[in-house]
Amino acid sequence: MGDKDSITSLAQGQTDDSANPRSLAALDASKLNITLATTLKPLQPIETLCFGQTFSDHMIVATYDPEIGWSAPEVKPHGPITLDPACSCFQYGGNVFEGMKAYLGPNGEARLFRPDMNMRRMEKSCARLALPPIDGDVVLELVKCLVNLEKRWIPKESGYSLYLRPTVIATRPGLGVIASDHAMLYILASPTGPYYQVLKPVSLFAVSENVRAWPGGTGGHKVAGNYSPGFLPQRTAAEKGYEQILWLFGDDRRITEAGAMNFFVVVKRDDGDGVDFITAPLDGTILPGVTRASCLALASDPDFHKESSVRLHPQETVYTMSDLAKWSSEGKLLEALVIGTAVIVGPCNRIGYEGKDIVIPGAGMGPVGTALRKKILDIQEGRTEWKGWGVVCP
Ligand SMILES: *Cc1c(COP(=O)(O)O)cnc(C)c1O
Repeated sequence: MGDKDSITSLAQGQTDDSANPRSLAALDASKLNITLATTLKPLQPIETLCFGQTFSDHMIVATYDPEIGWSAPEVKPHGPITLDPACSCFQYGGNVFEGMKAYLGPNGEARLFRPDMNMRRMEKSCARLALPPIDGDVVLELVKCLVNLEKRWIPKESGYSLYLRPTVIATRPGLGVIASDHAMLYILASPTGPYYQVLKPVSLFAVSENVRAWPGGTGGHKVAGNYSPGFLPQRTAAEKGYEQILWLFGDDRRITEAGAMNFFVVVKRDDGDGVDFITAPLDGTILPGVTRASCLALASDPDFHKESSVRLHPQETVYTMSDLAKWSSEGKLLEALVIGTAVIVGPCNRIGYEGKDIVIPGAGMGPVGTALRKKILDIQEGRTEWKGWGVVCP
């Protein structure tokens, strides 16, 4: 590895830059090597599936070396990987990930939901951590290969899916506090049910002494380092009887996100023209969720308006705990929704803040949340074709 001959031979495999013997190999899905597991695992009864606990038979792995570029990607049995303990990922957390799901369509076809958005986000996450650049379109080809190979793992029941976890980790084997020039891509597949029992409401504890994200930080990217600092406040919230945290920001207690989900509220308008559908703007402190973008797009889509009973006015705007308390006391706060790939659209029934609960009517979910959830599930599971959002794995 890394000697001149292998560099030259790899470079010759490239189409556009073969004149340059030092050009690095691009990630190339057509070079996929396949080593299948000798025995396949039995499928687990779906009632016993617990998010992210069961994995399919195979994973896809590729590595990036600064001398060579990307290795040929490999399908291999799901299992441990070996890394030097000095690797940058263990010391400096140079890790990014994506979360997406594959669903079975009505004709037994495997489907993804707006996977291009996950791939663009992954490219940006890698760039933010100065990881070697990665071509999301090729990662998507690899994701599709894995989904097709593991199709028997997609549960047939509605609300169930195969959760996919493309991950890039920093593998520079040294302690220097610098960007990693080595990386490993791997893609895992895990059969999963509804993240929360269908429509079981989530209680939120509003926290401002710990902050998830701040302007100029990494909160707008799906990078690993954003998550473990949330576990201690999450435990504190659980001790007080709440399931997740409502992350606030700033002296004015702006509402940002809930746990690792985006957060929306539905508020009755003063002019009587339906409702405002409110979420925080993408100012760098909010993870740009695919589900969030999809809900906002539906909420402003005349085609969706025709189907829904309530007139929606989507608003990406700063709003605070005092706004929320005021809307609640005036009886205008109609729904509170947690939104993301895992939960899709789910209800929040109460928010603990300064020793009191803001209780959401109807346990959080009303006509808006119900209509959005149904629409997105219909698109994901292929019952509705919608604006190219459902992508069949060929
Ligand atoms: C992944 C994630 C979301 C939801 O994004 P989706 O693309 O809809 O799954 C929201 N907030 C955080 C912090 C996340 O990590």
